[in-house]
Amino acid sequence: MLAKVHQLTGQVANTSTGVLVHAEGAHAAIEAFCRDLREKAPPLSHITEISVQATTGGHYRGFSIVQSRAGGHRFTLISPDTAVCDDCIQELFDPQDRRYGYPFINCTNCGPRYTIIEDIPYDRPKTSMRDFNMCPQCRREYDDPENRRFHAQPNACSVCGPKISLHAGNGEEIHTPDMIGTCVSLLKEGRILAVKGLGGFHLAVDAENERAVKKLRERKQREEKPLAVMAYDLKRIRRFALKNDLTALVMTSGNLSEEPIAIENADAFTRLKGIADYFLMHNRGIYLRSDDSVVKHAAGAPRFFRRSRGYVPVPVFLSKKVRPVLACGAALKNTVCLTKDTFAFLSQHVGDLENLATYAFFKKTIAHLQRILSIHPKVIAHDMHPDYLNTQYALEQADMEKVAVQHHHAHVVSCMAENQVSEPVIGLSFDGTGYGSDGNIWGGEVLLARYTGFERLAHLSYVAMPGSAAAIHEPWRMAVSYLYRTFGEDLFGLDLPLIRRIGEKKIRFMVAMIEKGINAPKTSSLGRLFDAVAALLDIGDRVAFEGQAAMALEMAADSAVEATYSFDLKSESVLKIEPQGIIEGVVQDIRAGVGVFRISAKFHATLIHLFESVCTRLKRETGLHRVALSGGVFQNTILLTGLVDRLTKSGFQVLTHEKVPTNDGGIALGQAVIADAAGR
Ligand code: ZN
Ligand code: ZN
Ligand code: FE
Repeated sequence: MLAKVHQLTGQVANTSTGVLVHAEGAHAAIEAFCRDLREKAPPLSHITEISVQATTGGHYRGFSIVQSRAGGHRFTLISPDTAVCDDCIQELFDPQDRRYGYPFINCTNCGPRYTIIEDIPYDRPKTSMRDFNMCPQCRREYDDPENRRFHAQPNACSVCGPKISLHAGNGEEIHTPDMIGTCVSLLKEGRILAVKGLGGFHLAVDAENERAVKKLRERKQREEKPLAVMAYDLKRIRRFALKNDLTALVMTSGNLSEEPIAIENADAFTRLKGIADYFLMHNRGIYLRSDDSVVKHAAGAPRFFRRSRGYVPVPVFLSKKVRPVLACGAALKNTVCLTKDTFAFLSQHVGDLENLATYAFFKKTIAHLQRILSIHPKVIAHDMHPDYLNTQYALEQADMEKVAVQHHHAHVVSCMAENQVSEPVIGLSFDGTGYGSDGNIWGGEVLLARYTGFERLAHLSYVAMPGSAAAIHEPWRMAVSYLYRTFGEDLFGLDLPLIRRIGEKKIRFMVAMIEKGINAPKTSSLGRLFDAVAALLDIGDRVAFEGQAAMALEMAADSAVEATYSFDLKSESVLKIEPQGIIEGVVQDIRAGVGVFRISAKFHATLIHLFESVCTRLKRETGLHRVALSGGVFQNTILLTGLVDRLTKSGFQVLTHEKVPTNDGGIALGQAVIADAAGR
């Protein structure tokens, strides 16, 4: 312990405003102590500020830790749940250690935090560990400042801590001396196991067993979306990623598609009954559910698809102080955001706000975060769309200043905020769907964005979405719409696989919808253009989830191609991007027998070239040299890497997302910062 190293006396207390240290000793020793506080801080600590004040001496004889103090201005940062550390792993597999094989092993440097905390200050009685009294041995570790488990609130062992239990599908307990061994056998037999972890239930099956995986997909109603796979270490992951040598488990969320994951034992038995064959449970409560995070490495940095367990509630640090704001986020991939001082706290993944269970979780998350962060916002930000559940929620809140925020503006400001940029930027905001200020569906937007507002400088020209939401699930509809927009009635004369596949009758029906404007809203979405091209190439007529066709298109691209298709920029009150040239080029290539790989690569290269041209032109007109890239389309690595590269070479400063998702999971951050600025 640092105080002892520097021969200081005094005390330390964990207060709700942070850690309060009273240290007495030689001047130089105190200075060295303060320096070491920063440099030798434990792995889980995140020091945002150290303030030093002189005070009167207290005549301490040693250095002690005193009881936490509540009350006053409650504010302290709370750790996320953290993966088991190397020291704990070593003990876990050491037959001589008293925690040998104990699943709930943890220490000050690892273990659960966010998911077990009900209130602050963060002490055992305020967590779901309160039901477990430490045995004398655990207590000694907990009380010993020299011990790795000193004040580790979830400290436990097999004598005093939480325990696992195994149950059959009907809930009946299975008694076996080797529970983990039994689970391994069950998995090898192809059974589906519901496993209660830190943030909620997972469903596990042997990834090598095709029948078991298929059974899981059917029962979970998740036919096509990729499933997460878990392996012991990176070495093994490399083996199956590169050599197709599977040694792993499928680990997917314990829920029916679209519902929040189960966290309570009784609830899991009810909801996962038809899905899991067996249940591996434990008797520690999960206070707040937290899904797994999803991150990929692209364009030289980590990119979040989902920022949740292991990261939340670490704040995003803002460039300046903001008002306390609650931002209700997007309708899909929802997260919420609370701000205070220079911190923006983005919640864990809440989900798609399309059912009451998710809506209940949304409300619980807001209440919980407000309590543990002691934030009492007077301002509430919501999407412009009037019908979303979270918009309704915002409008129902009495005595709060309401700020409606445009979806694509929120995307760009989210990117600006995490990069601590508050000067205006050119924002490329590309995604599938967002409610536009003109009532149309936006998604291919180039904005001049400030925290206080935006101007729409350019966008992809509007095209009809025949069947509205049906056009998202059936990308061939977008292909028809783009063909009709490009070729008119001549489209029926085109010799294309898509037309043969879908049939003239259905296509005529789509054209009639477009012509009459019945159930065919207008969209400028870049996501829908991806869908159209994927459908033309026969790699996505129907999709099970939004973005599936675009993903298939990205996977198909041959990276060596540099050729591009043509496009037009029409200068009206706003610059309109006309993609007819792209559609014509793709059709021509298909008919000439050019391979999918090459067409897909040309399509990507065209978009990179196109948006570089747009930015260069807007730089001339606006004098802005900063570009922010945001929106779900930037999950596409080819586009992200290509645009960052080209724009940087053309002299732009390019801002991208590294701390929050570029998809709608990052929207709440932008909403919060915009709402703060709106009231100033
Ligand atoms: Zn540990
Ligand atoms: Zn114990
Ligand atoms: Fe979006």
